[in-house]
Amino acid sequence: MRIQLLGSTVGDPTGYQFCMSYLINETIAIDAGSLGLQSPISVQQGVSHLLLSHAHLDHIATLPIWLDNVFEPSLQAPRIYASSSTWDFLQRHILNDSLWPNLERVAASEAPFYYPEILKPEQPVEIAGLTITPVDLDHLIPTFGFLIDDGQVAIALISDTSPTTRIWELCRQHPRLKAVFLEASFPNRMAWLAEKTKHLTPAMAFAELEKLGREDIPVYFVHLKPQHQVTMSHEVLSHQTQRPVIVVDPGHEYVISL
Ligand SMILES: [Zn+2]
Ligand SMILES: [Zn+2]
Repeated sequence: MRIQLLGSTVGDPTGYQFCMSYLINETIAIDAGSLGLQSPISVQQGVSHLLLSHAHLDHIATLPIWLDNVFEPSLQAPRIYASSSTWDFLQRHILNDSLWPNLERVAASEAPFYYPEILKPEQPVEIAGLTITPVDLDHLIPTFGFLIDDGQVAIALISDTSPTTRIWELCRQHPRLKAVFLEASFPNRMAWLAEKTKHLTPAMAFAELEKLGREDIPVYFVHLKPQHQVTMSHEVLSHQTQRPVIVVDPGHEYVISL
């Protein structure tokens, strides 16, 4: 399985994570924070399935732009998978004929811009050879983490969240789990802000990893706020642990294999 955190900077190759989108095996995207800004445009056109974790802007900011960029009536429209509450946010606040056209209305009798699919907690969906299971996290609005399994290896994407339990139970039991992509948003000195916004600091994230055990499984840190990236990278990489620890480099493709 190949996974890449898509870059969200322009003109500067530093690895800041302004907005969140992952690309998996080139055809599946998770979140659309930066998807609609990717160049060459063939990267955007190659995505036929998009799953959304939640409706916060750093995860959906370029969704309308991406849909506009890839729309071609003669081609199969992408499928977008999200919880019913995320769809509700999108329809009320984004695709509402004010901020952006209501694309389902626009395309009602023509070629669709997208096919909507509803994700339900712990009901796996089969997408392009992967089994993807959404799992409720604990964030300010309803948010899914994802377990992604290709039959040989599995990874967990756990972001955005405050301390949680269920996804760690599922990770602990998963026979093929090979990597956890975990959020840490604020440095340890800003635990108060992490708590109020339902995110994690590095110290909180390592406390979460205790729930996983299995210290052979690497943790890939994502969602570091850019102004704290240097401090947080130090906090993450200097933590005493046997577990391999990686700060994810946007634009780099990670190959997760046996
Ligand atoms: Zn969020
Ligand atoms: Zn976020």
